[in-house]
Amino acid sequence: DKHDESPTITQLDAKTVDRIAAGEVVERPASVVKELVENSLDAGASRITVAVQNGGKNGIRVRDDGRGIPEAELSIAVKPHTTSKIRKLADLESGVGTLGFRGEALSTIASVSRLTLRSKPQDAVAGAEVHVEGGDIGETRPAGCPTGTTVVVDDLFYNTPARKKFLKKDATEFDHINTVVTQYALANPDVAVSLEHNNRERFATDGSGNLQSAILSIYGREVAESMLSIDVKPDVDGITRIHGMVSNPETNRSTREYLATFVNSRYVTASILRDAVISGYGGQLSSDRYPFAVLFVTVPPDRVDVNVHPRKLDVRFDAEEAVTTAIETAVETALVDAGLIRSTAPRG
Ligand code: ADP
Ligand code: MG
Repeated sequence: DKHDESPTITQLDAKTVDRIAAGEVVERPASVVKELVENSLDAGASRITVAVQNGGKNGIRVRDDGRGIPEAELSIAVKPHTTSKIRKLADLESGVGTLGFRGEALSTIASVSRLTLRSKPQDAVAGAEVHVEGGDIGETRPAGCPTGTTVVVDDLFYNTPARKKFLKKDATEFDHINTVVTQYALANPDVAVSLEHNNRERFATDGSGNLQSAILSIYGREVAESMLSIDVKPDVDGITRIHGMVSNPETNRSTREYLATFVNSRYVTASILRDAVISGYGGQLSSDRYPFAVLFVTVPPDRVDVNVHPRKLDVRFDAEEAVTTAIETAVETALVDAGLIRSTAPRG
C-alpha cells in the first residue's frame, strides 16, 4: 500500500524555489524582453536597443543608456527579491512610480538561463560585469562599456527542458517579442527604441517624443499618414485625459493587435477599452476589421487597478462605464471632425 511509506516533509532549497517561481515570471523569450525593457525605462534610459537571435531562444540583448548599476551592486541585483525601487510595504501603498518593484526579474531570468549583467553608472570611471549561470553568481569583473546597462540572456530554459520544449517556432516567439517592444516604443515616444532580429533591424524610433513619428517608424508611412490626433480632458468621473491617435476607418487590419490602449502609461489589452475605440467608429468598420490606435487613458492612480499580477494586462476602473463612454466619444469626435464619419448621435 502506497500510504505505508509517507514521504517526509522537507523545505525546498532556495534554488529549486527560484526555478519554480521563474515559471511565473518567465514564460517565454518575450517575457524576458518585457522585464529587461521595463528595467531600462525605470533607469531613465533615452535609448534602448533590443537585439534577439532565433526568436530570443539563443540570445537576447537589451542595452540602455540609463543610470547604470554601481559595480558593488551588480551581484546584489541578480539575487532574489532585491530592488532599488521600494523599501517597504508602505511604499507600495503610496503608489509606485516605476514599472518594476518586485525585485524578481533579474534573479528569476538568471535562474533559467546564462545571464550577463554589465553596467557603468555615469560617474564611474569604468564598467563591470557579473555572469550568472542557472542561478550561480560568478565574480564581478571589470568590463569596458559605455554609461548604461547591457543585459545578455543566452540559452533560455537550458536547465528546464520541459519548459523549453513548449517554446513555439522562432517566428512565433519573435512575434511576441515584436509586440512587447512595439508597445513600449509607442508608450514612450521620447525614448529611442530599436529592435533587431537575427542581425536585421525591424524598427527604430527616433525618441523625438512625437507619437506620429514613432508610429511611422513602426507601422510605416501609409498608417502614420492616416492617423488622427485625439487629446481631450473629460474631467468627469476621475478621467483626467484621453490622448493619442487613431487611424481613419479605411486603414484597418484583420486583427486587434494594432489597437494599443494604455492606462496610466501601462499597456493593457482589456477588451472593454478596445471595444470602446471600435464603437467610436460608429459602424464604419466591417465587423472583422480593426483600426490602428494608440490611445492613452489617464486616471488618478487610486481609481484604477492595473497590473495586479506581473503578467496581467487587464485593468479595473472605479467608473468603467464613464471611461468607455469617454473613449467612444473622443474617437467619434476625432473622426467626425475630420469628416471621415457622420455623427451617430446628435451632439452639442
Ligand atoms: P525590480 O525591477 O522589480 O526592482 P529587477 O530584478 O528587475 O527588479 O532588478 C533589480 C534591480 O536591478 C533594480 O531595482 C535596479 O536597481 C537594478 N537594475 C536592473 N536593470 C537595470 C537597468 N537596466 N539599469 C539600471 N538598474 C537596473
Ligand atoms: Mg524589473
